[in-house]
Amino acid sequence: MTSVKLSTIWLTQRLKALAQGLGFDAWGVARVEALDSPPPPYPSPAYEAYRRYLSWIQQGLHAGMEYLAQAPHLRADPAHVLPGARSLFLVLQRYLHTRQTRSPIAQYAWSEDYHVHLRRRLQILADYLQRYGAQARPFVDTAPLLEKAWAVQAGLGWIGKNTLLLNRRLGSFTFIGGVITTAELTPDDPFVEDFCGSCNRCITACPTQALTPYVLDARRCIAYWTIEAPALEPTAPDLQGWIFGCDICQTVCPWNRFAQPQATLPPAAHAFFSAQEWAQLSRSQIRKHQKGTALRRTRPEKLQKAATMALTNPAKTPAAAALATYRDYAAPAEPPKLTHVGDTPAERAHTAPEPAPYRTADSRTERLHKKGP
Ligand code: SF4
Ligand code: SF4
Repeated sequence: MTSVKLSTIWLTQRLKALAQGLGFDAWGVARVEALDSPPPPYPSPAYEAYRRYLSWIQQGLHAGMEYLAQAPHLRADPAHVLPGARSLFLVLQRYLHTRQTRSPIAQYAWSEDYHVHLRRRLQILADYLQRYGAQARPFVDTAPLLEKAWAVQAGLGWIGKNTLLLNRRLGSFTFIGGVITTAELTPDDPFVEDFCGSCNRCITACPTQALTPYVLDARRCIAYWTIEAPALEPTAPDLQGWIFGCDICQTVCPWNRFAQPQATLPPAAHAFFSAQEWAQLSRSQIRKHQKGTALRRTRPEKLQKAATMALTNPAKTPAAAALATYRDYAAPAEPPKLTHVGDTPAERAHTAPEPAPYRTADSRTERLHKKGP
């Protein structure tokens, strides 16, 4: 028994070290449980998140995303994804590029498709587990799993009033991915706090009133209409200048003032196009820019139409509403001084340290150029 426990701890530690080496920003472990069974006697935020999800689809707030409503029992039990699964290893990868942006494209789609970027490194974690005889399958939006709920269960943060996962060090501009495995890993404590407190910024800043605390009405959400909906119908809300996604309810969130921009995913050229430039591109040119990015999730015609709509109301630019309401959003903040920061096991032990600040004249070329009087 002791040797089994020791090897479980050892394997978990090795996996976390590997996750750090692979450049993920945070990681944690959740024990696989069926969320449609009676809740356990200990805190389990994943159960609460599953019940919220059921209520959400019963109210029809998922709009046209029928795939989310299909077979909810599959989302309840990760063992449906991998029979015999015992653990979920969750990772976060930050994607914030800048706080100063007027791009009409949400920042998550500025770079190489995150599915590809994360998956090839998650596959390395899965390969590692397979070396020790376990079955393992990586996932990045590719399995019927409530990823945010399991991330909370793995101690990586809480689901905020904007319905996104919030991590106190990384904010909410993070991709979530993971590996589901039959290996037994040591679970982290779930994140049971909610640090939204009395804040309601995301709710008041949302230009389409798509948010009530912890609930998103996708039928009113710009991100839904510009990404998921098959077409921009007359019932769509004013897109406020966005043509793919919307970042307002993240941009205004005070927890994102602590987040440091990432430096691993360089933005592609399309991140800097204005709506006017998008409107002037031909469909084949748009297809070229969509290649290899998350922009592929929508059709070129829809991007063109959204860009044309943005031009009809040039006074509105992405984030203008947020800027008007919360002028401090662009200012980076000092690290939080709350007494609880770093108190949870995931925050304390399972997140990557901030990289050393880049110093000029570190490279040989720079040193050569610095020579002289
Ligand atoms: S993505 Fe935009 S439209 Fe959707 S809830 Fe957030 S602020 Fe509102
Ligand atoms: S803006 Fe405020 S209420 Fe909304 S998610 Fe962030 S902290 Fe929570």
